Amino acid sequence: MSNPSLLILAGDGIGPEVMDEVKKIITWFGDKRDVNIDVSEDLVGGAAYDAHGTPLHDDTMAKAQEADAVLLGAVGGPKYDVLDFSVKPERGLLRLRKEMDLFSNLRPAQCFDALADFSSLKKDIVAGLDIMIVRELTSGIYFGEPRGIETIDNERVGINTQRYTESEIARVARSAFELARKRDNRVCSMEKANVMESGILWQTVVNEVHQAEYSDVELSHMYADNGAMQLVRNPKQFDVIVTDNLFGDILSDAAAMLTGSLGMLPSASLGAPMANGRPKAMYEPVHGSAPDIAGQGKANPIACVLSFAMALRYSFDQGAEADRLEAAVEAVLASGARTADLLAAEGETPISTSEMGDAIVAALDASL
Ligand code: NAD
Repeated sequence: MSNPSLLILAGDGIGPEVMDEVKKIITWFGDKRDVNIDVSEDLVGGAAYDAHGTPLHDDTMAKAQEADAVLLGAVGGPKYDVLDFSVKPERGLLRLRKEMDLFSNLRPAQCFDALADFSSLKKDIVAGLDIMIVRELTSGIYFGEPRGIETIDNERVGINTQRYTESEIARVARSAFELARKRDNRVCSMEKANVMESGILWQTVVNEVHQAEYSDVELSHMYADNGAMQLVRNPKQFDVIVTDNLFGDILSDAAAMLTGSLGMLPSASLGAPMANGRPKAMYEPVHGSAPDIAGQGKANPIACVLSFAMALRYSFDQGAEADRLEAAVEAVLASGARTADLLAAEGETPISTSEMGDAIVAALDASL
């Protein structure tokens, strides 16, 4: 079998800095674990605009469609704020998501014990937390028609439409059930079937997909408002949560804060399976290009490293190696090593971006 392919788009600001650390880890997996990945690199965002006058060149888009997975750093920066909306760095990211049809957005909320004090919730509520929010990303109220601001009966009316087809619900439900099978085998579906017809259809279709294809997975349902409450009351009750675009936007941001720093949060966006059975996939840290610290060796590379761990698990069928990488990150944090964003008290000395990468590689060595 040929090696899986990974297209790296490091982007702008701290993107290239954190990506350098991931490259060390990719090299380690090739050298020490025989996990060989064909890596290619290209430009996205402001870097692509500087080179080509567009935030995503057509050739790069074509490479992304071909690759088994894309790993993206971050895009944007103050230099590009003056650009026309059509060529802003973020447009490159949106084009990738749209043309690859990445309808399933995975946002894990994982709390490493060593960082439990960083959460705004009590330590015992978040320590050891490991949940996954699956958000539908390409439909729902952010895209539904009609939309707009109209004048009706002499006053302005803002209109958006929540609209889901059964196939859109079914495919994201499948994505959640598949993930659950690789985790604790439990899915909780969240909607507002008590007040929304789209919620009734959502619940019905999730049940149908469950019965027909995934009856081995434990399924429960919750109204999204109760889900928000339960996420801060007792988040460890969940394994996989599947929900629509709007509720997922809100619930995943709330869940993210359970874990502390932005520098720790990975994500994945998955699409339909390709001819080789792997889903179309793009992995990226949740954070942006952090222009305030770019070029200073201060960025925390862990969000990007954990995004690569997700690629190992969900695109490259290397779940055990993903576990190994996450355990290495956990070991480094447990040893007390911290980048500046993770410092708890004044007077502690942070390590640099590259020192954090080196520490993770050393912990990987120690795992052998
Ligand atoms: P940001 O995520 O870049 O930064 C927010 C704050 O968190 C900053 O203080 C930053 O220093 C800190 N931070 C972020 N990542 C960190 C890391 N890995 N280690 C340590 N500290 C980290 O958000 P912003 O400041 O609102 O946006 C900056 C630029 O990034 C803008 O141009 C924005 O449009 C863009 N952006 C891009 C993405 C993306 O590429 N997916 C996401 C969000 C924002």
